[in-house]
Amino acid sequence: MKSYFRPEIDALAGYTAGEQPKIPDLIKLNTNENPYPPSPAVEKAIREFDIARLRRYPDPFADELRDIFAADCNVSRNNVIIGNGSDDLLTMCFRAFTSPEHPVAVFEPSYSLYPVLAAMQGAKVIRIDLAAGDFAYPANAVETAADANMLIITRPNAPTGTLCPKELVRKYCRDFDGIVLIDEAYADFASDNCMDLAGEFDNVIVMRTFSKSCSMAGVRLGYAVANAVLIDGLMKLKDSYNVDMLAQLVGKANYLDKSYRTECIAAIRRDRDLLADALKKLGFDIPESHSNFLFAAPPDGDGEKCFAYLRENAVLVRYFKGAVTGRYIRITIGTPEENRRVLELLSARYS
Ligand SMILES: *Cc1c(COP(=O)(O)O)cnc(C)c1O
Repeated sequence: MKSYFRPEIDALAGYTAGEQPKIPDLIKLNTNENPYPPSPAVEKAIREFDIARLRRYPDPFADELRDIFAADCNVSRNNVIIGNGSDDLLTMCFRAFTSPEHPVAVFEPSYSLYPVLAAMQGAKVIRIDLAAGDFAYPANAVETAADANMLIITRPNAPTGTLCPKELVRKYCRDFDGIVLIDEAYADFASDNCMDLAGEFDNVIVMRTFSKSCSMAGVRLGYAVANAVLIDGLMKLKDSYNVDMLAQLVGKANYLDKSYRTECIAAIRRDRDLLADALKKLGFDIPESHSNFLFAAPPDGDGEKCFAYLRENAVLVRYFKGAVTGRYIRITIGTPEENRRVLELLSARYS
């Protein structure tokens, strides 16, 4: 059959999402979900919800949520846009700021969705390599990115878990003549964040998601903060009702229970550092993680074999092929029991 697709779409491989397998008793540590359920306030909100309301459209702007996030970030409602997950917000930004004449610059390795979204736009990707070994950020990144219209900083970075120093981020924002998109999917697991840079610079967008620290990957909710002109522009190209009524309902109930969330995050950070120390004793090479996962290279440097060994033993982690990434596996921090099982299996193989 003849293809009716645009050539960009025919050439596209498509994004490979982490597996969501249906294997019983599998320990699933491959997509950086939270091991703890959302706040008990969510169940209460659902029980009290008047189902008849579902016949109406939701608030297209999710203003109640915007006001909550705005207050938390010290900005106003018109500095905030809500997304159906932050992948939705990323799609909006690629539609808005990239084209065949408007390249995007990304660090390598980082989130593998970015090049897929660029390909959909027919936009060129300028790749800026992080340093081998410690994944440090190059001082000359802005020069390399000069032809791009958007530069993406994932902070903390995925899949490495590392953190671009804030002063360097600030320098990139000041020196880069284009949009700087700071993807803060994992910021709640780090010791600082760059939310204030969205107020400090006209060209900066900071993005957050409910999928990781808020235990709500199933709900699809995220938000972005930037100056009002950028938010207005993004509003023009979002789907009218991009966040449904139930997502707005449970998102609000969950987000407002801050003390519960803070406890879950503290437990994950504690267990992350414990597992990292134990794996380092086995000879694993692990860059310091500021997120809810570890990027860990086994002593023999064969990430693929390590991935396969864990999978045979019903533990699913993530493996990224490639000259640099192929040395590592990425392990999401689970419950203490799940982490213990990972350590037990890896001790049996590598000590
Ligand atoms: C998980 C993740 C996202 C996507 O979040 P959703 O809100 O689930 O779409 C975005 N960026 C990075 C770096 C992520 O790891």
